[in-house]
Amino acid sequence: MSAADRARPITIIGAGIGGLTAALALADRGFAVEIFERAPQMQEVGAGLQLSPNALRVLGRLGLMKDLLVHGTRAREVILRRAFTGRPIASVPVVASDGMPYVSIHRADLQAVLLRAVDRSPAITLHLGATLQALTPARGGLDLWFISGEGRHRLQASLVVGADGVRSSIARRLGLAAATPSGAIAWRGYVSRDNGGGPPPGITAWLGPRRHAVAYPISGGRETNLVLIEPMKRMTLADPAGLAYRFRSWDRDVTSMIAAAGDMTGWPLNVVPPDRPWRHLDDRLILIGDAAHAMLPYAAQGAGMAIEDAAVLADALARAPSRSAALAHYEAERRPRIAKVRRRVAFHQRVYHLPWPLNLARDAALSLRSPDSLRDDLSWLYDWSPPRRF
Ligand SMILES: Cc1cc2nc3c(=O)[nH]c(=O)nc-3n(C[C@H](O)[C@H](O)[C@H](O)COP(=O)(O)OP(=O)(O)OC[C@H]3O[C@@H](n4cnc5c(N)ncnc54)[C@H](O)[C@@H]3O)c2cc1C
Repeated sequence: MSAADRARPITIIGAGIGGLTAALALADRGFAVEIFERAPQMQEVGAGLQLSPNALRVLGRLGLMKDLLVHGTRAREVILRRAFTGRPIASVPVVASDGMPYVSIHRADLQAVLLRAVDRSPAITLHLGATLQALTPARGGLDLWFISGEGRHRLQASLVVGADGVRSSIARRLGLAAATPSGAIAWRGYVSRDNGGGPPPGITAWLGPRRHAVAYPISGGRETNLVLIEPMKRMTLADPAGLAYRFRSWDRDVTSMIAAAGDMTGWPLNVVPPDRPWRHLDDRLILIGDAAHAMLPYAAQGAGMAIEDAAVLADALARAPSRSAALAHYEAERRPRIAKVRRRVAFHQRVYHLPWPLNLARDAALSLRSPDSLRDDLSWLYDWSPPRRF
């Protein structure tokens, strides 16, 4: 980056997983950062997250691993089971070849770890309750307009990182095609270990026709996070009670968790079009995370990709001679990777939801695979490392 660009703080819109990690990665590379978040308080919804080794490698290099492992639960494998009988189909190893773990964690715990690190960094300022309302090109940068408790105010920024999520208001203001409904909905809830319906330990996915369920430990194993994915019908959102009925003939572990979870929250799943441009306004603005490439959660990689984005962006900005060279390098690195992950997500979507009798062929084929060959399928994903100098 030029000396003039380096002299001014980098502005991040959105303090989600992508925005917070980007702030930490940029501060680590010597940049001053200001984050603007519309929420007046940082509160994560009660749901869990799987963090795969590729994402943990970035967080580890930021010095967060010890803290994460206090709250997260390590998994060695993801067990795939049949929806109705619960019979195991295959165990997919998830620890990377260098031993980097795979962890399931409560989102609030991950957010708290990131926020503590942000608080400790003298290079980062976090503004809560500040909603970006407009952005316009100005001499030598962009004018950003925020609304907060103190009214409307303007900020001049030289480089903006748009990390404002799948419903990105930045994308809307830039006139980009909106995220589109995928036709699926995810129901999220959690079950206390003491609340009966004890699910199997570790990470389990039950595969059924047009639906699947995933359960994994969070809060240090005191709770189990349950995610149910099914087609989104017009009335689905208004009918959470119908969930138990729609999953009534599933494995008892699933039905008892649904009963114990009580009201689950529905999240219609939207995806960002793959051709959404990421660089805007004369390379004064770059989109990252879900704002750039929100995808279906069938490979548990959305947050992982936002975390990878953060590391690659910080490294590119630190090393490239100019802003444009940095963003061009960033995009050249990230586009093929995101496209490959999206292809894997589409593959999981097809294979997870196969109808009878194709599901029998899938199960037979998977049961013949050795754990090593299943691990090899995903080594390109989990063995990814952030740039060496990061
Ligand atoms: C059911 C489900 C399960 C998932 N499971 C996994 C998983 O296991 N592993 C995984 O890696 N990923 C998973 N994901 C994906 C993951 O949740 C997302 O990819 C990730 O949270 C995206 O992070 P982000 O920082 O890009 O966006 P967000 O987390 O959406 O953050 C955006 C932030 O921007 C703020 N904001 C928005 N507009 C403005 C504005 N105008 N001004 C200021 N601030 C603004 C918002 O308040 C928010 O804090 C899952 C997703 C779903 C739906």
